Amino acid sequence: MTEKNNTQQFTLWDYTGNVQPAQIKVSILLYSEKIRNELGLHNLLGKDEFELIQNDSNAFLFGLISDQSVKAEIAWSLPFELRKRINHLDLERLSIMTIDELTEILKLKPALHRYPSQMAKYIVLASQRLKKQYQGKASKIWDAPANAAEIIHRLEEFSGIGHKKASLGVMLLVRDFGLIIPDTSSIDIAYDIHIRRIFLRSALANKDSAEEVLSAARSLHPDYPGLLTTPFWLIGRNWCHPTNPNCNECPINKGCAKKIELGKDINA
Ligand code: SF4
Repeated sequence: MTEKNNTQQFTLWDYTGNVQPAQIKVSILLYSEKIRNELGLHNLLGKDEFELIQNDSNAFLFGLISDQSVKAEIAWSLPFELRKRINHLDLERLSIMTIDELTEILKLKPALHRYPSQMAKYIVLASQRLKKQYQGKASKIWDAPANAAEIIHRLEEFSGIGHKKASLGVMLLVRDFGLIIPDTSSIDIAYDIHIRRIFLRSALANKDSAEEVLSAARSLHPDYPGLLTTPFWLIGRNWCHPTNPNCNECPINKGCAKKIELGKDINA
C-alpha cells in the first residue's frame, strides 16, 4: 500500500509489520486540516496583543526574537507588555537604549521573559540593524519579491534568531498574515522541545539532533515541512508530555512507535 500523491513515497507497513512514516504523515495532515481554523497567533493572544504584532512588523520581529525558553503566549505578548511599560516601541529610542536599561525594564515584576538580559540585548541590536539596513521597518525583510530562503537568511542575520526561529517566523507570516511565497519547501519545521520529543518517540528520528529532525520532516512533507510545525507542537502540548503521555487520545497514535521512554528529559 503506497501513497502516490507526494514527491516522496512511503510504504505504510514494512515486511516486519512495523509502522512506517507514511501512516504518521496521513494522520498528521488529517489532524492539521481538522485544526486549521483553530490555529494562529490570534487564538493564542489577546486581541490587543495580536493587533500590535499584526500592525507593527517590528513588534512581530521582537515577538519572534523572544520565542525561546518561555511559552509562546508569553513570548508573543512581550512586545505589547514592553510598550505598556515604556509607552512606545519607537525604533530610534530603542536603538539607543543600553542593554542594562532595557534589562531592568524587562525584569520588573512580573518579568516579561525568563532571560531578560539576553532579550534586551537582542532587541537593542535588532533595533539598530532594522534602522541601518531596513529603513526602520521589519516588513522590509519579507517584502516582495523575496522568497522563503532569502527571508530565512535575512532573519538569521539578527542576533538571537537561528534557523529554528527564522523558519518559524516565515511559517507564521504565511499562515497568519497571508504572506505569499513561491518556495514553501524551504521552510523547515521549527525544532522545538515538543517536536524533538515526538520525533524521537515516534521513531521518525533516531537521535535528537536538529539535522536528523529537519531531514525527517523534509522527507515527511517535502513540499512544505514547516506546515508540520503547528500540528506536532500541539500534540506535544496536549498529549505527548514528558511523562505520562496520553497516547490513546493522540492524533498520531496509529503510526507512532510509542518509544515513550525517550524524550523525558527534553524540557528546554
Ligand atoms: S502521545 Fe504517544 S502516540 Fe502521541 S506522539 Fe507521544 S508517544 Fe506517540
